[in-house]
Formats: sequence, C-alpha cells, structure tokens
Amino acid sequence: MKAFVILDKHRAEVREIDAPKPRPNEVLVRVKACGICGTDLHIFEGDVPVKYPVIPGHEFSGEVVEVGSEVEDVREGERVAVNPNISCGKCYYCKRGVVHFCERRVAIGIELQGAFAEYVAVPETNVHRLSNALSFEEAAFAEPIACCLHGQDLLNVGLGDTVAIFGLGPIGLIHLQLVRARGASLVIGVEVLEKRLKLGLKMGADLVINPLERDIIKEIREATGGRGVDAVIEATGNPQVLQNALKAVDYGGKVLVFGVAPMNALISISPFEIYRKEISIIGSFINPHTTERAVKILEARRINVRDLITHEVRIEQVLEVFEKLRTKREDFVKVIVKP
Ligand SMILES: [Zn+2]
Ligand SMILES: [Zn+2]
Repeated sequence: MKAFVILDKHRAEVREIDAPKPRPNEVLVRVKACGICGTDLHIFEGDVPVKYPVIPGHEFSGEVVEVGSEVEDVREGERVAVNPNISCGKCYYCKRGVVHFCERRVAIGIELQGAFAEYVAVPETNVHRLSNALSFEEAAFAEPIACCLHGQDLLNVGLGDTVAIFGLGPIGLIHLQLVRARGASLVIGVEVLEKRLKLGLKMGADLVINPLERDIIKEIREATGGRGVDAVIEATGNPQVLQNALKAVDYGGKVLVFGVAPMNALISISPFEIYRKEISIIGSFINPHTTERAVKILEARRINVRDLITHEVRIEQVLEVFEKLRTKREDFVKVIVKP
C-alpha cells in the first residue's frame, strides 16, 4: 500500500509498504479521509519528541475491510471513525477512568502507523460506527471534535455566558460552534488571518477582532460592559497569546488552555490577579471517552464542518501541503487527505 512517511525532520516521501495485518482484537480500516492537523506538521518540523520514521495521520474515517478473530461488535463493510488514542486498560490511570493519562498510551499517527496511508489496523475498541448520512470527510472531524468536547466538559460554559476564543483555526472554529450550541450569549473570535475571521462570523461569532489591527483587551472589555468575558479558550498554542488572554477574563472567569504550546515555553502571570479575581486556568488534553458523542454531534449536524474543509488532496500531495503550510497559511483551514 501507499503511505506518506516522515523519515526525519523536514524529510518525507511516499513509499510502497506492506499493508498491516489486523491482530485478533483489531480491525483493518481502509482509510477514506484523514485531516491534516498541527501535530502532523510539528512531527515534520521536529518540534515534538518522536521516533522516526513516522507515518502521521490521526483524524480519520474509513471502511472496515477485515476483522481479527476476537473482534465481537464490528463487521466488515462498516463505516467508522477512529479514536487514535489507545490506552492499556490496566494501569493506575486507566483504572481510575482517566484513560488519557494512561501510562502506556500510544497514538495512531505518532507511535503507531497513521492514516496518511491506504490501510490502518485499529483495536476494535477504538472504532465508532457511522450512519450513512455522514460523509467520510465530515467523519474525519470526529477526533478534533472529541478533543474539543473534552475541553468543553472541563470549561463548562453556562447558558448566557460570554466567551472569547483566541485562534480561529479548525479547533477554534469548532469550539466557537460548540459554545454557541451551549447557549453562550456573546462569542468573540480573535484571529489574524482574514479568511478565518470571515469563517468565524459565518459560524456564529458575534464579534471578530484582528489583534494586528485593534487592541483586543480594550475591544473585549467594551463588548462586555467594561468587565471581560466569563470564559476564554486559547486555541493558538502561542504562549504570548495565552498571557494576553488571561487579561480578557472577568471576575470568576475561566481560561481553557487548549492550544499546544512549545514544551519549554513559559509565561508570566500575576498570582494576585488569579487570587483576587478567582480565575480558573484549565488544561485540556486529548479526548477521553468523547468520540461517540463527537460522532453524534456530527450526525445531528449540530456543527458545520463542511465549510472548514478548504482542500482535499491525495497522499502524493501531502508533502507539498506541508511545505505550503510552513510558509503561507492564509488559504488553508482544514486539509483532508484521501488516499
Ligand atoms: Zn489532531
Ligand atoms: Zn493505562
């Protein structure tokens, strides 16, 4: 089968490799659609500690073409979305139900062969059945939506709350639609790229602000009667943005740290301000037990993912897309790879 292989930092090619054989507890998925995520690019850039070679791709859907001998619930021919994070079920954290902290957690597309390939072997426990109403391209959003749902569960935006979202990439635009669905009374999007600001408005933001052109904190205060928002979602991964975002919350406000910052980055915050304003800073990591709900949200068309897809490419074009994403992001929102 064909696979896109990252051989080392900044070095990748399409290779012909053997298709995986499903183990007894696994199913073989023929990949139909796989989103390109910031993490894939970070692996290509050498920003994350991984063991090369890596076949990336973890936001995917496809069709089951073979099942292992011990598989009980999944059948050949079924259309599925995949949760790429595999936990052991035996360690301290798995036993406590916090499977994302699993001591032996591995991820498809990072430690295991990913979905920028024609086939992927997946444990039966990690596939989620799709109805025919959902396209494979839409279903490729099950993973990013599942991650956002975990963040939303932790942030717990209430009916009538005001929210600011920093970064309107695919993740910020998913969060934006989720907080609208939760009944936020005011949603503000902060983003530097024009195309994404427009998408923010289209997907229900009441106000979008370009920080290159305006004073965001001043604008957010003005939009909230001088107070600041009840919740901030940081979806850029830029530590400087997070530091600034902390200034946008009101008394009792909450800040969700969702974007992935460089591992050694530091910010300075005022402990007094956290104390005095009772600010909660909340981290959110991957997608424990949220994929099934993500599929339901997609099937119910509660959020629009179609308009997030700006490009559909083949495996042979992934390298070209990576090169473009490094220099020029303006045109791209979500790129879907179709092997
Ligand atoms: Zn991702
Ligand atoms: Zn575990």
